[in-house]
Formats: sequence, structure tokens, C-alpha cells
Amino acid sequence: MRGELKVVSIKGKWSIILFALAIVIGAVAFFQNQQASGTEKKNVKQDTNYKNVEIVTLVNDGKFMRYAVNYPLFHQKKLDDKIQSYANSVLEHFKKTFSEAKDISENKRYELNIDYDMVHYAKQSVAIHFTTYTYTGQQKGTTHSVTINYDFQKNTFLDTEDLFQPKTNYLKKLSYITYTELQKDKTLSKDQSLLQKGTASTTQNFSQFALKENYVEFYFPASQVAAEDLGPQTLAIKKTLLKDILKPEYMNKTKNQNEIKEPNPKRKAVELPQKSKLDPNKKSIALTFDDGPNPETTSKILNALKQNKGHATFFVLGSRVQYYPGMLTDILKGGNEIGNHSYNHPLLTRLPLKQAVKQVEDTQQLIEKASGYTPTHFRPPYGGTNQDINQAVGMKVSLWDVDPEDWKIRNSQQIINHVLSHAADGRTVLMHDIYESSARAAVKIIHELTKQGYQLVTVSELEQLKKERNEPAPVQ
Ligand SMILES: [Zn+2]
Repeated sequence: MRGELKVVSIKGKWSIILFALAIVIGAVAFFQNQQASGTEKKNVKQDTNYKNVEIVTLVNDGKFMRYAVNYPLFHQKKLDDKIQSYANSVLEHFKKTFSEAKDISENKRYELNIDYDMVHYAKQSVAIHFTTYTYTGQQKGTTHSVTINYDFQKNTFLDTEDLFQPKTNYLKKLSYITYTELQKDKTLSKDQSLLQKGTASTTQNFSQFALKENYVEFYFPASQVAAEDLGPQTLAIKKTLLKDILKPEYMNKTKNQNEIKEPNPKRKAVELPQKSKLDPNKKSIALTFDDGPNPETTSKILNALKQNKGHATFFVLGSRVQYYPGMLTDILKGGNEIGNHSYNHPLLTRLPLKQAVKQVEDTQQLIEKASGYTPTHFRPPYGGTNQDINQAVGMKVSLWDVDPEDWKIRNSQQIINHVLSHAADGRTVLMHDIYESSARAAVKIIHELTKQGYQLVTVSELEQLKKERNEPAPVQ
């Protein structure tokens, strides 16, 4: 009995020690955990810009994780519930990821930042643009944006389809305006397939927007319309451009007047993109100029084109683009086209295939680097090419019908006579913009052909016209 008692008492002692130890370990763990995940501080303050708005801030500055969450409250239950549930769900997800993480450390501190921008706040509606930055141990953090639009008068959230008149083809119009506007930005126009896909007429592409006083602003997340490293993009479209598709109540400026002055949008469309003024019924000629650019002579031709509202195509040499990269922008500005004429003008059929292709590819890169423009047409020097080269290069080959041999003749009047006497609807004329005699001739030819009722078009435009008229393309 005694022995047994003794055993029990020893057992009792051990359990007390173990119990105490467990408490100590638990306390230490709890303390460490507190330090690791920190404690949340909540702060609510009045917005200084908007008297009915409160700003809620949740901050936690732990050793291994931190977050800062900001959101507005409007004393409008439906709207506030949505905002709070958005912020809370992002925060809860972040906390869960942190608590399940196995690789936490001080130099890889987890981070969450939710911030917002009051893009628009009027009697009629509000638009809040949330940006969330999350870092959970990967190489890079991720940024995500969400815009909430709420109509105070209808007591409802607004999706894209709620803004527009249902029986109109509003997506097509948004797609058209957005594509042509973003296309003007050289950094965005580089990746044509992405830009086209990201602005195609789908609800998804136009799901992020803010209804503002004078504009409807669209948000495109990184990698929707341009490469990921270029970041998210925006385009604000002036409401007057949307008047035939926007619901009349959202056109009303007085109801939609912002409580503070609406800032000017970063990128905006204020007039409808002009449709090509090509007239398929008008006789058309494609003037083409090879071997340039050459500042003095090329500029003379560009001026004459501008005066006559005409376009032409310049098949440039890579070796010259290197010297005069700025000329390419001048060419493109007037609506002209740039084509590829090899790097330094060899007869490509005499070169090994690899070198022939390199001539074209190097030039293509130089043109892209100088102007952001990617030529679609290639003109082989001396017109000399073969199937292997054409296939490897993968561009449209552009030859000509009218050749005044201006490089040899060097007499303006003879060049003019030759071109004018051979001019006819649908023809492509070959000249060289590096000779003074050719430039002088070109200026006269441009004035004269325009006077005769021709529209001067690029090689791509001529192809387009022929397609519309169902005529075969001139070459290839
Ligand atoms: Zn040439």
C-alpha cells in the first residue's frame, strides 16, 4: 500500500511538472506566435473630402507578416456590406495562407495591402477602385484590382451591361474605340495579337470600369492588352462618344456631378477614331519609295503627301534606319507605311538562305526598335527573291508595275513623264527617295495625280481596296 501510494505521489509530482512545463511552452509559443503574426489595430476616421464617408483602417505589424487594409464606409448598408465582405475575404484568405505557411522568416515577411481610390462620388453613383498587393513568400508580390460601382438612386451595383442600352451592340463599339485608341501608344501596339484579344468585344474584357462625371473609364489588368511588365492600363472614354449606347440616365451630367473636381484621366478618348477615308470607287495608286530614309529628300516627299492628304510606302534599308531612326516616326505620323528592303541591299538569291533571312530579320528589328512599328511587307532588292526566301521571311512580298528607272535617269522631268504616262488605277509605282531628282519628281507627281482624281494609298491600303473590289492582288 505504502509503495503504491508513493508511486502515485511520484506520478502526481511528474504530472504537475509536466503540466507546468506545458504551460511554459504554451506561453512561449503563444508569445512567439503573437510576435510572429502581430496584433491588429483598428482605426475609423472621417474622410476629409467627403462628409458622409468614414475610412476604416486595419493595421497589423507582425514580425513575420504585416497588413494594412483601408476601405471606405458610406452608411449605406448594401454597399458597406459588399465593401466589408470584399476586404474581409481577402484578409481572411491572406491570414489562412500565412497560418498554413511552412517557410516563414523575417526576411520573407508576408504582406497584404488593400488600398482604394475614390474614382467618382456623386449623388447618383459612386466608383471605388481597390488595389490589393499581396506577398506570400514567392519571388514577387502580386497586384490585383477590383472596381465597385454603385447606383445610390436605384440601390444597386452596376455591371457593364447595366450602363448600356441592351439592344445596342455596345461591346463592339467599346472594342473599336479601345483598340484604335490604345493602338496609338507605341509600347502597346507592339504586341498586336494581345492588344486585339484584350480589346475584343467580350463582356469580360470590359468588366472593370468606373462610371464618372464626364467619362466611363475602363481598367485593363496587366497582361490583358499589353505585356505583363507594362503593368495595368486604363482608358477613359468621353461620355459624348457613347451617347448612342449609354443609358440616358447615365448621360445626365448634373446628377452625376462629382463632389470634388474630377481629375483629368491619364489616357482618354475624346473623339471617335476616324474611319479610313478610302473610297473603293475612286481610282487608286500606291507610290513606293525604296532605299531610304534620307532626311532631306524623304521629308520633301512627306510634305507633298501631307498637303495632298495622300499616303505612300517607304521600303527602308536597315543600314540607313540606324543613321536616321527619327525619320521612321515622321513617315508613320502621316499615315504612311514602312516596308522592309533588307539591311544593305544585296541580291538575296545569291546569298545562303540563312544570310538572306538575316538581312530581313535584322532590318525588321531595327525598324521595331526605332518606331515600335512592325512592317508587314518586304521588297527584295532588285526584285530578286525565291520561294525559299519568301517562306522563311514569312512576310508579304511587294513588287511594282511602274518603274521610271529614276536611280539611273536622274532627270526629274523624264521621271515625271514616265510615271504620269504609265499611271493607272490599281498600279504600284517604284521610285527612290534618296535622290534629289527623284524627290523633286515625286512632289510634282503627287500633286498631279491628286489633281487627276487619284487617291494615293499605301501598299496595304491598295491590297485592302482590291479585296473590297474582289480584284486579285497585284503581286504574289
Ligand atoms: Zn532598292
